Amino acid sequence: MSNSGRAHRGLLLVISSPSGAGKTSLSRRLIAEFAQLELSVSATTRRPRLGEVDGREYHFVDRVRFEAMVANDEFLEWAEVHENCYGSPRAPILERLAAGADVLFDIDWQGAQQIRAAARADTVQVFILPPTLEALAGRLRSRASDAPDVIERRLARAREEIGHWVEYDYVIVNDDFDDAYARLAAIYRAERERRERNLWLDGFVGGLLGEG
Ligand code: 5GP
Repeated sequence: MSNSGRAHRGLLLVISSPSGAGKTSLSRRLIAEFAQLELSVSATTRRPRLGEVDGREYHFVDRVRFEAMVANDEFLEWAEVHENCYGSPRAPILERLAAGADVLFDIDWQGAQQIRAAARADTVQVFILPPTLEALAGRLRSRASDAPDVIERRLARAREEIGHWVEYDYVIVNDDFDDAYARLAAIYRAERERRERNLWLDGFVGGLLGEG
């Protein structure tokens, strides 16, 4: 029996990894496959990369605006990463959860910690590891829009990010994209099936036992 259209308690699916481990591609594919899963579009003070569109990858804002959003408590979590600020705007997330959707976050370990602290029972956290650090460096270098010193700093930070792997519920090594994706989709599917997220079951079982 399909659960679609039945009352569901939304989950917050957090995916973290060092930059270049493939988390963004994995997240995009998951969003494309599952209609009830929506991406939380973060606000950032970082400049757009080539091809990034305001409101799609990020809401690009300046520091003054970002700090005003922090002061107004507009973020569910926020953090400074690579000398830029990133935050998950609270209002659209609460609105999507209230509508019965699940929300996916592509955020770093600092944000993951904050979301865990705020909503542990509703949070599922997945960490993506690269197969080797060399593979990670290669992917960072192929992103032509970042300068060499930026890439070196990102590599140093990758080691720091990887150090937080034990804080996550699930860990996936992305040595093969299709395989890593299949694991991620399996985790999401299973987590959606958890009893406490399927609010409709209560009435359903009541009906079952009331039969005849
Ligand atoms: P990038 O600049 O490469 O798009 O992202 C840099 C890092 O910031 C990535 O690890 C990304 O997951 C993280 N990030 C993006 N948005 C947010 C956010 O809203 N909050 C936090 N804590 N991290 C974020």
